[in-house]
Amino acid sequence: MPIQILPSLVVKQIAAGECIERPASIVKELVENSLDAGATDIEIYVEDAGNRLIQVIDNGCGIAPAELELAITSHATSKLQAVEDLDTIETMGFRGEALASICSVAEVKIASAIAANTTGYVLQSRGEQLMPIRPVGMQTGTLIEVRNLFFNIPARRKFLKSKHVEMGHITDTIMRLALANFSVAFKLRHNDREILVAAAAANYQERITDVIGDKMQFITASDGKQDCQLHAYLTPPEHHRSNNKWQFLYLNRRWVKDRVTSKALADAYRDYLPAKKHPIAVLYLQMDPALVDVNVHPAKTEVRFRDSQAIYGLVYKTVLQALRGEDFTPEIVPTSFYQQQDLTGSPAPKADSFPTVDPAPENAGNSSQIQATDEVAVRPTMRGTNSPNEDIAGVAAIVKEPLPKEQIVPEQEETAPVSYLQVHRRYLLMETSQGITLIDQHALHERILYERLRRQLKRQKVISQKLLFAETLQLSALEMELFDKWHSQLADIGIEARAIAPTRIEITSIPQLLGKLCAPELVVELLEQLNHQEKVSLDTAVDHLLATMACKAAVKTGDDLTPQEIQSLLRFKSTTDNPFHCPHGRPTMVNITLQELDKYFDRR
Ligand code: ADP
Ligand code: MG
Repeated sequence: MPIQILPSLVVKQIAAGECIERPASIVKELVENSLDAGATDIEIYVEDAGNRLIQVIDNGCGIAPAELELAITSHATSKLQAVEDLDTIETMGFRGEALASICSVAEVKIASAIAANTTGYVLQSRGEQLMPIRPVGMQTGTLIEVRNLFFNIPARRKFLKSKHVEMGHITDTIMRLALANFSVAFKLRHNDREILVAAAAANYQERITDVIGDKMQFITASDGKQDCQLHAYLTPPEHHRSNNKWQFLYLNRRWVKDRVTSKALADAYRDYLPAKKHPIAVLYLQMDPALVDVNVHPAKTEVRFRDSQAIYGLVYKTVLQALRGEDFTPEIVPTSFYQQQDLTGSPAPKADSFPTVDPAPENAGNSSQIQATDEVAVRPTMRGTNSPNEDIAGVAAIVKEPLPKEQIVPEQEETAPVSYLQVHRRYLLMETSQGITLIDQHALHERILYERLRRQLKRQKVISQKLLFAETLQLSALEMELFDKWHSQLADIGIEARAIAPTRIEITSIPQLLGKLCAPELVVELLEQLNHQEKVSLDTAVDHLLATMACKAAVKTGDDLTPQEIQSLLRFKSTTDNPFHCPHGRPTMVNITLQELDKYFDRR
């Protein structure tokens, strides 16, 4: 091929490859421009996950009609004049390339009005073609429409992921920008559905609560020196998630990805969280721009700290101190908080009675009876107030928090009590005809629940229980993709949920046997599990889900069981197919014969 100069459109398209990866990249560039223009109200409207249309409307300063064409010209910017300005730059953009790049890969319309004019002006571009600028009636601000992304580069279209994934990226983008700009109002809509609405907030705390955590309480912590300060908003450990998508780091109000700070966060939370769990956290670092290089990546999302050890230390120390200063003992609330009588119409609570559920078969949910207790229930903050509705298991769970006692209630007729001893709230020691049996209370309960779930599934589908209040759950793009894919299997195992926004689902039912579990936490856990099930058969994957559910719902080591609960657990043992191993293969019990004991004591 002879050497030739590339046509200007091709040059722009190649440049666009760097910053316009997917619809979310366009959303980011456009919204950042709106922020740079001083907008206090930004609305984003998207159709077909951004493939058909991305529209951003702001009330910023607008673009003068004479500059409209310049705005879409490469290397044209109002934010930088000389290279020295780079050191002090405070705007999100400064390369003057975004609009030019977008115009090279999509059809663009820009309508803008500045305060000095009585009318706005529109510029339209398609590939290399420009329509003559014409006036339009509008208020001060800018409206940009980007249509038919990659209409002229079909190869790039092929790289786009499913709509849920692309829309998930767009939602993430807006969320990140919203968390950095609390005083700006944001509204994101997709095909006429509102996905994220954040009214102008008075401070970060208000914005974070609005955007991330419906009911969460954040711990705040600040520390640092003049040239580097950290403001952290952290959730108490019980709000943990299975991935670190819910950690946001801002460097001088710009969202960045950074391993050093994530590591520091993980290390600080280590003693407070189960393995592989991650906190939800928003960290704002304010530092002298000279101490960090933000130009590692064209999208400026990766940074390099001059002294990363110092940043690690600052984050680790601040977070750890904040956690140590908190008291995480569960909140104690009277059972009446749950108003269980009103919900079930059950008789007045009777003190110290163990909820008795009819020995009805598992598919006869609503014939059960319950006697609630008057005692004080422990309500860890994150646990859902699941509905008892027609089904009684939930109430039993609620009344007797934190133990899922309803799950231990026997299905068969009462038998004579077995003598036992609970050891260290962990093991049960029983006398048997041949000697003694030691049982791991968690492992056995896990096994029993697992088998009951599996039996239900074999009969058709796991019996589910409607939540009194449907729980909504914000998912990451990946989690949403998994949810889409496994949606019907989840329904089979008793989890009824539906997508209500591109990355938000509503959970309406969970398995009856898991009455007390926090539904969102359970679903997140199951999705996390499915993420690792790519190569296994459907049956195996579903089996893993059942095992996970059983494990989460089973009594834990350290749970103090009442005599009745222990009796029912022991009775269940005899109806279990494989009482000797938990679903993960760990032993649930060991038998020690009299002969062995005798040998030990030199009796023979
Ligand atoms: P950069 O943001 O790096 O300057 P862009 O291509 O994103 O480059 O934008 C080019 C110019 O267009 C900006 O410098 C700004 O002057 C103007 N502009 C773009 N979007 C807006 C907007 N929403 N409001 C006001 N001016 C805008
Ligand atoms: Mg820009």
